[in-house]
Amino acid sequence: MSSWTHKKNIFIETMCDGYTFQKAFRIALVVGTMLNIINQGDFIIHMQFEKINYFKFILTYLIPFFVSTYTAININMNPKVGGKLIIPATLTCKGCNASVHVEKNTPIPQCSHCKNATQWKIK
Ligand SMILES: [Zn+2]
Repeated sequence: MSSWTHKKNIFIETMCDGYTFQKAFRIALVVGTMLNIINQGDFIIHMQFEKINYFKFILTYLIPFFVSTYTAININMNPKVGGKLIIPATLTCKGCNASVHVEKNTPIPQCSHCKNATQWKIK
């Protein structure tokens, strides 16, 4: 599997993952509500709903949702020692080019050569 195909699969798997979606949804609910209260709280509290900018209202929820989802994708694309992968992958050590295959939900090992200085990339 090419690196690009693998990264595309990670992107799709992360986007479709129920846990990632739930977490992004909760963050959007909390952060979006707080920001809407800060930005348009006067209109909401005084029930002047006709004065609310609904485009900004919706956007205020969508942005934290997509930031959270983007963060999850970024974490899954940059494997760290001790972390876990959401799909199996062959990792290549940036220091010595050694490769290791890691299964889904298995802790990512150190490179047997580089030990504590291990930095993996997806092959
Ligand atoms: Zn190494």
